[in-house]
Amino acid sequence: MRIDIMTLFPDMCRAVYSESIVGRAVSNGILEINAVNIRDFSTDKHNRVDDTPYGGGMGMLMQAQPIFDCCKHIESTMSTKPHVIYMSPQGAVLNQQRVKELSKLENIVILCGHYEGVDERVLEEIVDEEISVGDYVLTGGELPALVLTDCIARMVDGVLPNEEAYSSESHYNVLLEHPQYTKPYEWNGKNVPEVLISGHHANIDEWKRMQSLKRTFERRPELLERAELSKKDMLFLQKLRSETKKTD
Ligand code: SAM
Repeated sequence: MRIDIMTLFPDMCRAVYSESIVGRAVSNGILEINAVNIRDFSTDKHNRVDDTPYGGGMGMLMQAQPIFDCCKHIESTMSTKPHVIYMSPQGAVLNQQRVKELSKLENIVILCGHYEGVDERVLEEIVDEEISVGDYVLTGGELPALVLTDCIARMVDGVLPNEEAYSSESHYNVLLEHPQYTKPYEWNGKNVPEVLISGHHANIDEWKRMQSLKRTFERRPELLERAELSKKDMLFLQKLRSETKKTD
């Protein structure tokens, strides 16, 4: 998979995607990630990429032409048309399901806005989808683009050791993951739950499932409406609900 990030701050992006698991996948050739400087495509003699908004108002807007030319240049280096995403607080809020779908694509181009945003006309011309990382506003699209790149990258075949590395995690199958423990067995007067050292795999799996349901019930109950639940899960949740009512 190839991801190209259109940005005014390519070094900021490179610093993140060159590190850790994603950095290793890039070095191994499993992923190609490029940060492309929009400023390189400015036709202004001072390399300007922004101007004041029509109709007045605060701040500056990114101009259409450098972004359009940058995108066309990236497209000209690809054999298939990329899926173009604009990181925007006005987009659909990102979730694991969308990440799963995006990880199957061959080429993705991500546009990072800055200042007060981007001239609407270039968004209409090049963008296939707008994605938000949450209902709050950042100064630029670089951090959101890196969030998107990271969570897509870890789902690409070969980046993590196997599918289990991500399929057991929170949100993959809607529910939150169970609590986890590592050595030492006793820390700060607290022991690891006995079942985890029992070696009894069926009991361990059942404990993990029940803890996952309990966590989701306590922290994100609305997720349970979308989860696939067995009869046993539903009975367990009923029990949790009646216990909660008793303590209210
Ligand atoms: N004026 C815009 C508005 O009210 O919708 C906000 C512009 S914001 C200060 C500058 C840039 O940061 C945006 O163009 C976008 O690329 C990025 N950005 C800010 N918040 C974001 C979010 N929650 N998700 C994704 N991108 C975001």
